[in-house]
Amino acid sequence: MKKKIVIALGGNALGNNLEEQMAAVKTTAKAIVDLIEVGNDVVVSHGNGPQVGMINNAMSEFYKHHPNYHLCPMSVCVAMSQGYIGYDLQNALREELLNRNINKGVSTIITQVEVNPEDKAFQNPTKPIGSFMTKEDADLAIKNGETVIEDSGRGYRVVVPSPKPVGIVEIETIKSLVNMGQVVIAGGGGGIPVVKQGNHLKGVSAVIDKDYASCTLAKELDADCLIILTAVEKVAVNFGKPNEKWLDNVSVDEIKEYVKEGHFAPGSMLPKVEAAMEFAASKAERYSLITLLEKSKDGISGKTGTTIK
Ligand code: ADP
Ligand code: MG
Repeated sequence: MKKKIVIALGGNALGNNLEEQMAAVKTTAKAIVDLIEVGNDVVVSHGNGPQVGMINNAMSEFYKHHPNYHLCPMSVCVAMSQGYIGYDLQNALREELLNRNINKGVSTIITQVEVNPEDKAFQNPTKPIGSFMTKEDADLAIKNGETVIEDSGRGYRVVVPSPKPVGIVEIETIKSLVNMGQVVIAGGGGGIPVVKQGNHLKGVSAVIDKDYASCTLAKELDADCLIILTAVEKVAVNFGKPNEKWLDNVSVDEIKEYVKEGHFAPGSMLPKVEAAMEFAASKAERYSLITLLEKSKDGISGKTGTTIK
């Protein structure tokens, strides 16, 4: 049966640098087109950790040598990462679709995601961005209004808040394209975080978790399924322990208990499980799937992965 699917791509779908990304998107495109080929409508979202780190470092280095320029704000770095990743992905998807004689447009929507300026995350920046810095660079970053932490003796790092997504600004545009049968890449890197100031949207120095943003996107699109593709085939309880158990089909209530028991690492599996849970709980027919990129086809046909319903 034809479904509307939001696919959230993890780090391994894109690689860590330009060369890796160029190669990785080919495999990624195959896995995505497998789902399109059988008639599903697909919207793709993705992470941007290494890419936004690279862009942020490059812009900071540039600023160090050209202090007359402005330091590039985090929101602009996220926008750049959406453009750069979207370019590679849409190109790879286009080629894979053509190889299979599927005639569909593919485009990337630069996506802004509204956040609440009162979100508690703004009082407590937690997400490290870019590489380790010397004391000298750290002082410059602080002078530029960044929050810097000393990371357990390894050096200094800029940290930014990670607020929860409130709404997808470009949702109607994304919907229109999906309704026309087109493939859309949206919400990259969790979206560009913005706050409303009347009619103006102001970019803020923050990073939204891509798993939470994908959940919001899936809900607003009224998708049937949220697929989170990552580096493991299934979600486990007692992960990495002798009594490790891989989960196949779980209810929202069941996985809620596992969350309480602390089975999922914050910053890696926890946001995925929480996003998957929230989407599945939002309507009776909706469900989420967490699995490996290479297993997405088997996952959607119920053969593998962890399904939350
Ligand atoms: P992505 O780039 O896809 O967001 P992450 O590295 O952030 O990937 O998260 C996936 C990782 O979460 C897995 O590779 C695994 O090492 C880790 N992980 C933590 N807890 C669990 C768990 N309970 N079950 C499965 N994987 C887990
Ligand atoms: Mg992650």
